[in-house]
Amino acid sequence: MAIDGSHFDVVIVGAGPAGALTAAMLTAVKPDLKVCVLDHRSETRRHYGLSIAKDAIQAATQTLKGYLRPDDKVYNQRIYTLIDKLQSWSGTTQKVSDLEIELATLAKASGATILRKEEYRETLTKDVFDRVLGTEEKPGLTDTEKELRGYFKDARIIVGAEGHHSAVRQRFMEGGDEEKRADVKIFQHVIELKFKTIPETTKRGMKGSVKDSHCEGVAFETMPNKKEGDPFKPVSTHFFVGKKTYEAFQGAEDRTAWNLETLQEEASKNPSVANQALKIAHYLKGLLDRGGCCVEPQIKRLPIQMYKSPEVYKAYDGKIITLVGDALSGAVLARGVNKAFMEASQLVPAILENSEKAFKNYEKAVGKIYENEKWWAEFKAFWIEGGRHALRYFFKPVKFILWPVTALYFYCKSFFVKEPSLGDLLRKNTLRALEIPRAPEKTS
Ligand SMILES: Cc1cc2nc3c(=O)[nH]c(=O)nc-3n(C[C@H](O)[C@H](O)[C@H](O)COP(=O)(O)OP(=O)(O)OC[C@H]3O[C@@H](n4cnc5c(N)ncnc54)[C@H](O)[C@@H]3O)c2cc1C
Repeated sequence: MAIDGSHFDVVIVGAGPAGALTAAMLTAVKPDLKVCVLDHRSETRRHYGLSIAKDAIQAATQTLKGYLRPDDKVYNQRIYTLIDKLQSWSGTTQKVSDLEIELATLAKASGATILRKEEYRETLTKDVFDRVLGTEEKPGLTDTEKELRGYFKDARIIVGAEGHHSAVRQRFMEGGDEEKRADVKIFQHVIELKFKTIPETTKRGMKGSVKDSHCEGVAFETMPNKKEGDPFKPVSTHFFVGKKTYEAFQGAEDRTAWNLETLQEEASKNPSVANQALKIAHYLKGLLDRGGCCVEPQIKRLPIQMYKSPEVYKAYDGKIITLVGDALSGAVLARGVNKAFMEASQLVPAILENSEKAFKNYEKAVGKIYENEKWWAEFKAFWIEGGRHALRYFFKPVKFILWPVTALYFYCKSFFVKEPSLGDLLRKNTLRALEIPRAPEKTS
């Protein structure tokens, strides 16, 4: 949908929590500011829960309160509505989709324009930015690029809030140059399982939480749209694993590709792989119990790198280009939404003031937020994993003393419970008992 004669002061790319909150805050405080949010997803379908920390909400409400006007009830009402909404989330867990929808609704009510997939038909990439931005219109623009150019043309500020793959960051802050990335390090380790299922089996959507991602065994599912005519839906499941398990997968050099058979073989040799195999088996069994049918399972190892963009804002063609949220950290961080909320709370005053000094202050503030979050995530990763290991050793002698009792209990239980446990399945080298049916050949 082309918005004829539209002109926007601020264009935010990405309507995730960071982009939607920035838009909601800006328009609550300054409703005459023309704000446009572009998101390439048609509607939000992310159902995993995010725990919202009190300090993140406090940061946002504090900023908002700073803009209240004495004795102007009508003006203050919008700000109070947003503050109330934010405070109702403080210390709770909210679905990502609920956060995004509610923030976008508030932003719209205050006058922001939110364009989703249907209206905004071009995905912004580094190259598209090159074609659509610039004082002079480039020859040969497609209709959708012209539309996009129209949105950006008068904008004084462009905010990259499109998550960790941010094209704004790649195009403007580091030029795609890996070496320019600051602070590169492997931060999280993931084992990825890709397969297809009938859609009904994955109704639960994503589960798990990055908060726990440093501990072994957290899984979450992402489901791209299924192709037309294909009864199956592709699923990627990510199991966040500890360094030890990741290295066990890494260490099996002769394995170029992992699948359930190779997993089975390695599991019999390596306890770290066996541990993970059990979790994967458990997960797949859950799918099968729900009537799932999977095909072509592949297993991959993915290191997740984290780095802050070396620059937080930049002047380009008379505009300020800046970043917020995962776009800035280059990774899905533990407490990522809280970091995003804190950053948005600092970005809003910078946008409203729109001066070099204000953006410098924003840069300083996010540097501190990033360092704190990184430190905290690393600290937790070390102590939670370390603590778990310590507890395991602590309880070993207790287990040993209780062993005859528990052994008797499980022996008696086995009379009544006929089904073998997953542990038994794995020990008996029968992970293949969970063999996943292949999809029927496609009939054209
Ligand atoms: C399973 C899981 C659990 C988590 N749990 C927690 C938790 O408990 N607490 C916590 O604080 N954090 C948690 N996180 C992290 C949190 O989800 C992210 O840090 C947060 O969503 C970041 O928000 P964002 O707006 O910066 O980016 P995103 O949420 O990634 O949003 C980016 C938006 O930009 C859009 N977009 C992307 N590219 C383009 C483009 N080219 N053009 C237009 N639009 C585009 C996307 O469609 C999306 O709407 C979790 C993450 C996961 C995966």
